[in-house]
Amino acid sequence: MINTLPPAVVRLIAAGEVIDSLASAVRELAENAIDAGANRIVINIWTDSFTIQVTDNGKGISYSDLLQVALPHTTSKIANQEDLTNITTLGFRGEALHCLAQLGKLTIISRQGSAPAYQVDYNQQGECINLPRETAFAEGTTVKVTNLFAHYPQRLSMLPSMPQQIRQIQKQVYNLAIANPHVSWQIYLENKEWLKLWAGDIITQILPNLNSTDLVSLDYRDLQVILGLPDRYHRPRPDWVKVIINRRVVHYPELEQTILNSFQRKLPRNRYPLCLVHIKASPSQMDWNRHPAKLEVYLDQLQYWQTYITDTICRLLERPIQPKTTRQLFQVAENSISYSTAPQLCAIAQVLKTYILAENSQGIYLIEQHTAHERVLYEHLEDQWQIVPIPEPILLHGLTETQVFNLTKMAVDISEFGSNTWVVRSLPKLLVDHPEAVAILTELSQQEEMSGVMAQLACRSAIKNGTELDLATMQTIIQQWQATRNPHTCPHGRPICLHLKSNDLARIFRRNWLIGNS
Ligand code: ADP
Ligand code: MG
Repeated sequence: MINTLPPAVVRLIAAGEVIDSLASAVRELAENAIDAGANRIVINIWTDSFTIQVTDNGKGISYSDLLQVALPHTTSKIANQEDLTNITTLGFRGEALHCLAQLGKLTIISRQGSAPAYQVDYNQQGECINLPRETAFAEGTTVKVTNLFAHYPQRLSMLPSMPQQIRQIQKQVYNLAIANPHVSWQIYLENKEWLKLWAGDIITQILPNLNSTDLVSLDYRDLQVILGLPDRYHRPRPDWVKVIINRRVVHYPELEQTILNSFQRKLPRNRYPLCLVHIKASPSQMDWNRHPAKLEVYLDQLQYWQTYITDTICRLLERPIQPKTTRQLFQVAENSISYSTAPQLCAIAQVLKTYILAENSQGIYLIEQHTAHERVLYEHLEDQWQIVPIPEPILLHGLTETQVFNLTKMAVDISEFGSNTWVVRSLPKLLVDHPEAVAILTELSQQEEMSGVMAQLACRSAIKNGTELDLATMQTIIQQWQATRNPHTCPHGRPICLHLKSNDLARIFRRNWLIGNS
């Protein structure tokens, strides 16, 4: 449903020239298509007539909304001031279509569901020139604007040369595609196909010299990092250091610097990494209203994100991903044993209720049960942060504002419940039925960073030293531990395993002595 925003809300929104170039017209229309749920977007550009046409397969616009969409400050995306802190769409100001109607000649064809398709032409005030006419059209929307800037000779004269504008459009489309990899794009220039990107692996389509095997990525609930392995790919400029916040590429110098710092001493001199950081921030944690084109945004908890990004990049750079890399890594890291490529371990016995004694063809192993299990749980949490609803809500008392915020960040369902009391309706899966759930949750609320939360949760949920274990349980633990990405230490850095190699044992017991025949 389309609303006209109240004047008080309009004043809060960074006003400004939303559309100052062909590229920004493309951006606004494509963002509308993405907001409408489209996964196919076709763009036509005719430079002679300054015409842009964007067609999508999104949810379409209803007859009654078509009458209003181009009026000033009409949007279906927010309704009041409160919604401004909860923006999940790319658009929200209700300005773009009105602006396009003012700057050129605007026509929309749209069809919603099984309703007929309608076509509407708008005048410069954004009013319908005629009532919507029925026409034939697939589900979705086409927005066409012709003769952009025709009535604004001064603006026309300020535009860069057409080849430059075309480059701006290309860059714009690439950024939209990178930030929204679920969308397929076809761009026609003067009726000829110019760019085509399939949904999925957008980066290697844009950079054909890059192999998909040169890229590695790590995905968390709220952060995804994709990077080119520094021994295989780097660039002369930092043009592929990109910060994407809630599906929009933004300019965020502090975070870009964080990325560059994480690659320090890992790249040749004067070379820059390819690194994309996708941040999924809660809409209430940021402010888009600093820049008319939303190219800048302010995130709360900047430091939290900086540490989180640094950690994730380090982890990706350390992590042996493919056989080739694994081997290279282990060649460099002398003395480091690869537990994950070692033959399967077999548990033999428990020692001092603390260590698991295990063997394989390469020797014997003493594995501390608690730290090994902790490592397993930690990586499991990293791969899948699961919050589940609990039947009996938990009450917490006397939390600080930061503690409540930290719990919210973990996606725990927490709300105020009277004075100085909060009610918790969901928990990390490991805490469900945990006898110390309340104490542990309080501890977790003091952790600022997700990695700290996960380490703490893993530590508190792992089997304790001093617990008697049967063989089957021990076998499961060492099997899972052997499969971890980082089997050497627990999340706090303590070693997990003592390995006595069979060669060393042979040396210690002087097995090379020739005594008799055997
Ligand atoms: P905003 O995107 O800030 O809401 P716009 O002026 O860009 O403002 O668009 C106004 C409204 O028109 C949107 O809120 C949306 O309801 C509707 N709209 C625009 N483009 C499309 C589209 N491609 N598909 C469906 N609805 C659209
Ligand atoms: Mg919009």
